[in-house]
Amino acid sequence: ATPISMTVAMGQGARAGILFRNAGAIERMRNIDTIVVDKTGTLTLGHPALTDFATEGIAQDEALALVAGVEQLSEHPIARAIVASARARGLKLPQAEDFEALSGLGVQANIDGKRVLVGSRNFLSQHNIDTQRWDEQGEAWRAEAKMVVFFAVDGVAAGIAAVADPVKESTPEAITTLRSLGIHIVMLTGDSRRTAEAVARQLGIRETLAEVLPEHKARHVKRLQSEGHKVAMAGDGINDAPALAQADVGIAMGTGTDIAMESADITLVKGDLRGIARAVVLSRATMRNIR
Ligand code: ADP
Ligand code: MG
Repeated sequence: ATPISMTVAMGQGARAGILFRNAGAIERMRNIDTIVVDKTGTLTLGHPALTDFATEGIAQDEALALVAGVEQLSEHPIARAIVASARARGLKLPQAEDFEALSGLGVQANIDGKRVLVGSRNFLSQHNIDTQRWDEQGEAWRAEAKMVVFFAVDGVAAGIAAVADPVKESTPEAITTLRSLGIHIVMLTGDSRRTAEAVARQLGIRETLAEVLPEHKARHVKRLQSEGHKVAMAGDGINDAPALAQADVGIAMGTGTDIAMESADITLVKGDLRGIARAVVLSRATMRNIR
């Protein structure tokens, strides 16, 4: 490629919706060999919809009203999907009290005289709730690339919900281009291994790090760096901010949270991952030693 100056690269990037924070960001991007990508909201749209809901010992509408009543107080994309579905069914949601959210695990509250927990299988296990009745169903939905959450009413696993979060239309092309540029791609997610692998398989991503708690995302980036890799990390959430800061180049989705963008060296205005490949090409085209 023809060498171009930093200023030209920044201008070309900006016109394509790729905002480099400074010249240093371009400089570091040139040497990246590994890109770690968050799944939800980065590879996928981040706007899941409820697709499946099953209960035992409690009517579906009653359970959905309780679960949505608790999730009403959560900002998580899974929570929004559940609440939207309950509203669409015309359910009246009871008021939740003593609400508590555990980042990367789930939520709990008192509602309608009952104790309700909603979250990952691990979250319920931590509360000594046996999910065995639902495990096989959960695995089946995960194999369809759906995110699965379990819920318990008064200490008993009462059911399971699945939400589908489609891959962004632009993602497959972005992954193919990055690979052709010789970049290794690693998916990083708090979601279950089975779901993560189903999404990775669709996209031809060979390495996945799943069931990673938010506070451990940065640690995985650090480990890759200590193995000698130059690592870019792409994410959208509050959860991702420490990992974006740890990476040699942090890349935020402009469609994500402000905190992610504040921690980033590059912001992709439209949240389109093809911008990463363009950023690599632009950075490689810049002249060395230009200040
Ligand atoms: P990601 O890395 O995909 O952004 P998170 O760390 O936000 O994932 O969440 C990881 C997992 O924690 C979810 O897949 C879900 O099982 C559980 N979880 C977190 N928050 C909630 C919630 N509000 N309701 C239900 N489950 C939740
Ligand atoms: Mg996320």
